[in-house]
Amino acid sequence: METLELKNLWEEVKSGLIDELPENAHPWITPLEVTGYDKGVLTVVTGQMMGRDLLKRNYYNSIVNVIKNVTHNPDSDFVIIYDENAAKSLRKENEKLQKKVNAAIQKEQAMENLSYMQSASNLNLKYKFENFVVGKSNEFAYKVTKSVAENPAGKYNPLFIYGNSGLGKTHLMQAIGHYTIFKNPRLKVKYTKTEDYVNDFISNSRNSKDTIENMSKFNKKYTNIDIILIDDIQFIESKKKTMSQMQHTFDSLYNKGKQIVITSDRLPKDIPTLTSALCSRFEMGLMVELTPPDKDVRIGILKKLSADNGLEYTDEALNYIAEHYYNNVRELEGAFNRVSAFSDMTGSPLTIELARKILKCDETKKEIDLSKIANVVADYYNVSVDDLKGSARSQKISAARHMAVYLSRELCGNSFVSIAEFFNKKHTTIMFAHDKIQKEISCNSNLASDSREIKQALKVI
Ligand code: ADP
Ligand code: MG
Repeated sequence: METLELKNLWEEVKSGLIDELPENAHPWITPLEVTGYDKGVLTVVTGQMMGRDLLKRNYYNSIVNVIKNVTHNPDSDFVIIYDENAAKSLRKENEKLQKKVNAAIQKEQAMENLSYMQSASNLNLKYKFENFVVGKSNEFAYKVTKSVAENPAGKYNPLFIYGNSGLGKTHLMQAIGHYTIFKNPRLKVKYTKTEDYVNDFISNSRNSKDTIENMSKFNKKYTNIDIILIDDIQFIESKKKTMSQMQHTFDSLYNKGKQIVITSDRLPKDIPTLTSALCSRFEMGLMVELTPPDKDVRIGILKKLSADNGLEYTDEALNYIAEHYYNNVRELEGAFNRVSAFSDMTGSPLTIELARKILKCDETKKEIDLSKIANVVADYYNVSVDDLKGSARSQKISAARHMAVYLSRELCGNSFVSIAEFFNKKHTTIMFAHDKIQKEISCNSNLASDSREIKQALKVI
């Protein structure tokens, strides 16, 4: 019989003995160590001579009955040996074994907890620190987020991560979540997109007979946690009620000493919908910017993607892609995915010829600037560039202007102030126009296809 099997059998017999025998016999039973089980005969060893004699004399029959009950073997028997040294060393061995078993159980529980927490907290498994390529352009943001993960609600609370779309804000934010859960599965982490938070609030605060109960559940969900990760706060609604709810969530977490992490595509003061109360709260901790990836980071990301995909490449090819996709990691990944899919299909390694053929960057990546975007957008909507810069507000001109502003920000990454100057508008007007399209584009397929066609005309995709 295997050690573990024997041990389990003995544990069962022992608990039967504790149930069956009177309490004054228990001190003789607990120190018994099992040594074997063969054809119904269970052998145990004890370091107590008196224990052996008492058990044999007074309880032999009861003990055999318990063994019969457990093993279902009518020929059961029981042998008890007195041997002080053997009992001691067996005890040590068993303790070691028990420790191992306990550690395995704990590990299993921790893994179960971990995967439960990861799914309950809404995290994407890809967005971990170990998958984040670090270089000059993002080193500070990386260090700060790592430090928050190591020491939540320490020096940097709240942490506000900002930067243009596609630079790794969501990735770093979620990395905090993964790291914390792994290090301490007891901590509760919640990741939420701002839009989901807002929608959740709206549906729970709607007047009904259950509003009070619903709102109490809502509050529990967002404040009964240790770390909250709120993504893309620029999408917060301007409604008073939503703002004050967000303020409530922020304050209750902050006052309990919980970590708050927020991302945004711009600074709090540039989010026109934000109340000054929320703005000042977000500015209270540390604000860290993610800037476009430097060349080393871009190459590092491409190498990592190639390794993950088992793709053979030449340095020249990676260099070519990195040279042409410099503004946005999401686009860099998109370019890689296109060449990698082709390379997979044809079974050819990633060479510069292949990259050129698929990405066609040479003709396309002539510097793209605001006036080029304005020209192409004006053409597409059949209006003039002067219309875009002027004050007419017909539906057609407004639609064109909104799209031009949106693409200027997305493709060139210029500040709202410089886009505003170019289009002759106030920078808050520009922010509204940009946000309107950014919000609508994911659910309006006409808008999405307009944007795609204009990008094709601009030769950026
Ligand atoms: P954001 O939230 O700023 O719009 P994301 O965090 O969604 O950007 O990043 C876009 C994509 O780029 C994701 O797939 C992310 O994993 C990847 N990415 C961004 N920065 C890095 C980096 N430094 N190393 C590896 N991947 C990165
Ligand atoms: Mg994001």
